[in-house]
Amino acid sequence: MSQSAYVLKRSKRRRTLGIKVTSKAEVVIQVPHTLPQEKIDRFVSEHQDWIDKKQSAMFKNIEEKETLLKTQFIYLGQLYDLRESDSISEILFDDSSVFIPTGTDEKQLQFWYKQRAEDILFDRVSIYESFIKAKPDNVKVKKLKSRWGSCSSNGDISLNIQLVKAPMTVIDYVVVHELCHLVHLDHSKSFWNLVESILPDYKKAHTWLKSNGHLL
Ligand SMILES: [Zn+2]
Repeated sequence: MSQSAYVLKRSKRRRTLGIKVTSKAEVVIQVPHTLPQEKIDRFVSEHQDWIDKKQSAMFKNIEEKETLLKTQFIYLGQLYDLRESDSISEILFDDSSVFIPTGTDEKQLQFWYKQRAEDILFDRVSIYESFIKAKPDNVKVKKLKSRWGSCSSNGDISLNIQLVKAPMTVIDYVVVHELCHLVHLDHSKSFWNLVESILPDYKKAHTWLKSNGHLL
């Protein structure tokens, strides 16, 4: 059994050893500042089975997404066949296909997603902010590495561009989740009660994100 390559993060504040496998299948080992290398090696080899399992799950996710993106286009939770066309100058849809101008590159596609994301997400925020007694200071739609949304203590909300690939019920859940953080900046019982009072079915959206989030 060979040991995985890993990124080592030493921290003065840490007391315990931690381990995670990122969505890019990178292994990160977090250790207290002065922990000797042999202890780290032992820790890693004790957890090698877990690492292997977790890494192959992540590689599978990555592969699944790459295969999907070669032939398919995701928008608002629907999968479309991706087709190139010489005779169009903008992205067009029919029921089952998306037609993109021949030669459209990844950057142009991302720009298209960003514009759609801004239109839809700003609109959903303005609908749902009337349900709570607070208004966000600022709403940004941007690339977020590992989160669907965030809410800062000074009332700024950020939403992930990739959400525009999810079904509307999932978009609404993330929007409502972040808006409710304007009232409760934690995941307390009162927070979840507020989310549920606005979206009684929110758990379905939460589960959808957990099982499909890696494809977005
Ligand atoms: Zn939250």
